Amino acid sequence: MSKKVQPGENREEPDYSGISDELLAERLEEFRGILFEERQRLMKNARRTLTEEMTVDQDDLPDEMDLASADYNQNLSFRLRGRERHLLSKIEESLERLDDGDYWHCEECEAWIGFRRLRARPVTKLCIICKEKQEHRERAFA
Ligand SMILES: [Zn+2]
Repeated sequence: MSKKVQPGENREEPDYSGISDELLAERLEEFRGILFEERQRLMKNARRTLTEEMTVDQDDLPDEMDLASADYNQNLSFRLRGRERHLLSKIEESLERLDDGDYWHCEECEAWIGFRRLRARPVTKLCIICKEKQEHRERAFA
């Protein structure tokens, strides 16, 4: 099925920095929504973890509980929450960047990051080229 796209009707506009203010405002709402949703999801997870911990008293643990695996699970949950905390701060930062109008541009070279990349990684601050350079540096000093 092919349909001729009328101006203003094409929602999959080319990904470049010269888009109209109107479309950029639309994108701003879209990405604000994406970031808010992700933040909601993290908050819900954090609350659930907290509730689970408060309801499981150490004395209530069954005797046959494998201690090694309980330790392992606890480590895992600490690490996940560390990662979630990190992600949450990145989301807050992205929301600020969105309000400041910096969100669309690479923090390092100021290039247009692109909607496709931002949809895949909504908290990124780097264009794909700077990201690859950064990963290369990190590998070099790892
Ligand atoms: Zn860049």
